[in-house]
Amino acid sequence: MSSPVWHPFTQHGLGEDIPLIERAEGALLHAADGRRFIDAISSWWVTTHGHCHPRIMAAIREQAGKLDQLIFAGWTHEPAETLARDLVAITPAGLDHVFFSDSGSTSVEVALKMALGYWLNRGEPRHRIVVMEHSYHGDTIGAMSVGERGVYNRAYQPLLFDVDTLPFPHGDGEAAIAAFERLCTQNPPPAALIVEPLILGAGGMLIYPPHVLKSLRDICAREGVLFIADEVMTGWGRTGMVFACQHAGIAPDLMCLSKGLTGGAVPLAVTMATRAIFDAHLSDDRGRMFFHSSSYTANPIACAAANANLAIWRDEPVMARIIDLARRQVERLERIEDPLIVGKRQLGTITAMEFVDPYGDYLSAMGPMLGRFFRDRGLLLRPMGNTVYVMPPYCIEDDQLDAIYAAIAAAAQGMRT
Ligand SMILES: *Cc1c(COP(=O)(O)O)cnc(C)c1O
Repeated sequence: MSSPVWHPFTQHGLGEDIPLIERAEGALLHAADGRRFIDAISSWWVTTHGHCHPRIMAAIREQAGKLDQLIFAGWTHEPAETLARDLVAITPAGLDHVFFSDSGSTSVEVALKMALGYWLNRGEPRHRIVVMEHSYHGDTIGAMSVGERGVYNRAYQPLLFDVDTLPFPHGDGEAAIAAFERLCTQNPPPAALIVEPLILGAGGMLIYPPHVLKSLRDICAREGVLFIADEVMTGWGRTGMVFACQHAGIAPDLMCLSKGLTGGAVPLAVTMATRAIFDAHLSDDRGRMFFHSSSYTANPIACAAANANLAIWRDEPVMARIIDLARRQVERLERIEDPLIVGKRQLGTITAMEFVDPYGDYLSAMGPMLGRFFRDRGLLLRPMGNTVYVMPPYCIEDDQLDAIYAAIAAAAQGMRT
């Protein structure tokens, strides 16, 4: 009998093989039928230290024996209090308040709602959001509204709200910076700018330089526009610093974190906000509070997993591992030489490249074809259209990396013959 499960971003009509995974450790997934797969994309960018890290698993078990879930409106618990304090300490300066939710998309919704609430409560209502071309911020209606429009949200476009879009900062990024300067002269000015700092993930691993990020942040500060950094993918070391904003030496007004927040073990997200944004909601008037919650806000077990993740960052040489992985990634990327592979690029632990495809778009046949090729070679490596990228857990071993790049080279070679 076929499975009743409806998978995300999956065309069930194509009859694709859907591996049944039983267990995982490090960078390796074990399937029920005995196959093994190297997780080359960190199970969609979430697994940082490796699957089933013993300290995170132990923290989950321990918390599960004490407190499973608690209403978070007006009640609190130690795992959330500890996590919030520690997040304030390690994130860029000024992010003094922590609002919990349970996915990256929701953390973005929360940031947008906080930005609009800030302006309304200050008595200067603003509602225009500025975004960057090719951005991705999640799949809920608000998160889609601030993301790239395309076939993946065509059906919902009538419901998406209008935004102002900066061109992607190619080269020195002057066009994007000038476009943002222009948008800030509108009356009223934009409420906020939301960006993925330094690298646009789902948009195709597009990289732009730190000085552009810094310029956009400076313009926001000068013009009084809130700056939202969506670090859902870039956070927790992916780009070679703990947070991508640190490459540019900037601190945002609002910052979204999820994916690697629990080391990738269980769902949790936070939106971090400055004191000014918190204070704009602070009043003896209940009408000015922040109107948002989800049932599992700050779930204690998820918070315990995140606390264990932070402890791993404190106690283990995670940054040294990341710098070493970046070097090992670059070495192998450089060795890939094929006329069918163009646009090789790298940022921190992430490498990406394009397979030349005359019909290249997200729905081109090349993505699924490559995905199948890699799966047949024991890899979880899921291209986006004709963009192939490698974003492994930090514990990945040399021979596993070799297998990934050998398969990429073989795929290109196979296409020519
Ligand atoms: C994955 C991602 C999101 C959405 O996170 P979910 O947990 O999948 O909802 C938002 N922003 C960025 C930059 C992402 O990479």
